[in-house]
Amino acid sequence: NKQVIFKGYVSGFPKETDMYLTTTSTKLKVPEGSKAVFVKNLYLSCDPFLRFRMSNIPSEDPEFSPFQPGSPIYGFVVAKVVDSGHPDFKKGDLVWGLNGWEEYSLITEPERLFKIPHTDVPLSYYTGLLGMPGVSAYFGLIDICSPKEGERVYVSAASGAVGQLVGQFAKWMGCYVVGSAGSKQKVELLKNKFGFDEAFNYKEEHDWNAALKRYFPEGIDIYYENVGGKMLDAVLPNMRAHGRIAACGMISQYNLQQPEGVHNLATIISKRLRIQGFIAFDYFSQYSRLLDFVVPYIREGKITYVEDITEGIENAPAALIGLYSGRNVGKQVVAIAHE
Ligand code: NDP
Repeated sequence: NKQVIFKGYVSGFPKETDMYLTTTSTKLKVPEGSKAVFVKNLYLSCDPFLRFRMSNIPSEDPEFSPFQPGSPIYGFVVAKVVDSGHPDFKKGDLVWGLNGWEEYSLITEPERLFKIPHTDVPLSYYTGLLGMPGVSAYFGLIDICSPKEGERVYVSAASGAVGQLVGQFAKWMGCYVVGSAGSKQKVELLKNKFGFDEAFNYKEEHDWNAALKRYFPEGIDIYYENVGGKMLDAVLPNMRAHGRIAACGMISQYNLQQPEGVHNLATIISKRLRIQGFIAFDYFSQYSRLLDFVVPYIREGKITYVEDITEGIENAPAALIGLYSGRNVGKQVVAIAHE
């Protein structure tokens, strides 16, 4: 059983060598009398929040508390049940949820997994569009920002797992949508594949305030925040009165020893802004709302979801750290087995 092991606490940018591969032997069966399930992991989901767990900083949320050095990386996976002692799960069921990054796992509390209801869509979507990033995009945009037709929406890290969905959902709501991303290829995707009205490469546009003024001459109603730091600073004075900001992530800050200050915070007062942070896990109890909303669009071919699929568990560390330099194009997934 190959496993991706967390080596030790990280400061600054994570490296491939902060993780290593080991092989252990595992019995492919659930112990007699146990209500556990045994799964074969098919896809590993590379998500930016895993960086929090690589620091030795305690958290009230178990999902964010520090990894144990020497234990497998613990993130979202899509898996297939190969043996079950639990009445609600049977051999062959497909599931997604948090689990160790390894080829096979014994899961003692299978109740915390989601059963995969629709198998006529790519299974890897349950790490992205139909998984935690989809929940973030949907509830962050719809519940937190309440977009209305004609409103102007800005999305940062717009071509990623979450951003590409926020842009498409906002277009369906009748909004004007602009995204930023870190390469020419990503900007092309935003404009030509995801249907953003405009997009810019923030690595080439050095004056972000000027870029935002160009695309939003009347200001921004909704900012879907994925990046933080200097980007948030540039956005704040460009918000319209009563604008809403969904603070989903601040990836530009995760690897800094000294987080950047935000200088334009006082704008919140004069512009009567509402900034709300949120965590996808809090919405998992309403997961069916995402499925009801998005599955019809998938079946009608009305949504595009770009994935960056790396093959092989041995390539998982490189795939994960690639998120922090923008190497991924779309949702970063690692395929470790086929059904
Ligand atoms: P992505 O698929 O967007 O991958 C991360 C991307 O972030 C990279 O491809 C890169 O794109 C961009 N990036 C990396 N470093 C920087 C930087 N220093 N400055 C600006 N951009 C950077 O990831 P996700 O869609 O999964 O996540 C997007 C954000 O949402 C993250 O901040 C994440 O933490 C957050 N998140 C929060 C959740 C919640 O529950 N609140 C749930 C899921 C995600 P580029 O080439 O464009 O720079």
